[in-house]
Amino acid sequence: MSYVGPDFDPPRPRRSPLRRTLTVVLAALVPGALLGWLAFETLGGADDGGPGRAAGATSSTAGSAGGDPDDKPGASTSQSPTASAPGGAGALAGKVVVIDPGHNPANFAHTAEINSKVDIGTHKKECDTTGTTTNSGYTEAAFTLDVAHRLRTLLERQGATVKLTQDADRPYGPCIDERARIGNSAPADAVVSVHADGAASGQRGFHVILPGAVHEGGADTRAIVAPSRELGELIADDFAESTDTSPSNYVGDGTGLVTREDLGGLNLSTVPKVFIECGNMRDSKDAALLTSGAWRQKAAQGISEGIVSFLRG
Ligand SMILES: [Zn+2]
Repeated sequence: MSYVGPDFDPPRPRRSPLRRTLTVVLAALVPGALLGWLAFETLGGADDGGPGRAAGATSSTAGSAGGDPDDKPGASTSQSPTASAPGGAGALAGKVVVIDPGHNPANFAHTAEINSKVDIGTHKKECDTTGTTTNSGYTEAAFTLDVAHRLRTLLERQGATVKLTQDADRPYGPCIDERARIGNSAPADAVVSVHADGAASGQRGFHVILPGAVHEGGADTRAIVAPSRELGELIADDFAESTDTSPSNYVGDGTGLVTREDLGGLNLSTVPKVFIECGNMRDSKDAALLTSGAWRQKAAQGISEGIVSFLRG
């Protein structure tokens, strides 16, 4: 399946003699910093733009009408983003970041398990969902894992300790309550759950989902509402700049920020956490971006910059 392909890890390029020659030529022509970027783009960034296909991804199991199917829409409020600062090497030494790639490529084959209910404090909810797909069958699960790998590489370069909640290394899930616990027990300084939406065609753009204040059952988000908003605002700002895409035109009133109180992954978090819906897989224009490896690199870059800004405070 595409998500275990060799295209996740730009820093370890597959070098051909031609590419080595190209790199040597470039080395003679451009200064070091620019060379690094060029080599990165040439060798790792743009060779994987085509859509992949995960086993079991069918239109009958994928997505639902409106909204990301893993968590149903809820109340929303919004604010404007703020600026960020660049990070240097080692800037995140000692920091722990948990990346939560939404869904699991194998969820499609474990319907009963992922439909079992878990307690999210406010109510019970499905363990996990399959996630959506583009109309051509590129799954959200493949997308989230790819962006997560790229993001991990970028954050590790800054010295952060990075943990993924899943890496296509388990039969299904984890369930949304376990996803939250993984961030809590890390313990993470920041958690980002990566998703792409399954909304109607014509609905475009990204949005960052912030936890609302929930204090019910096993959920108590009151301590993380403010830092999560800060994290989310920074990510939204940097994501827009890095990807040159606009905030959602269907939720968030143009701010790219939405607050929800119905997501188990947020309700059960005790550390700063946000979701990002990077675009709408069901819109052909957004899908063209989401299926591009070069664009996914920009997406990971934007998310990374927001996290770096947040953690450097
Ligand atoms: Zn999702």
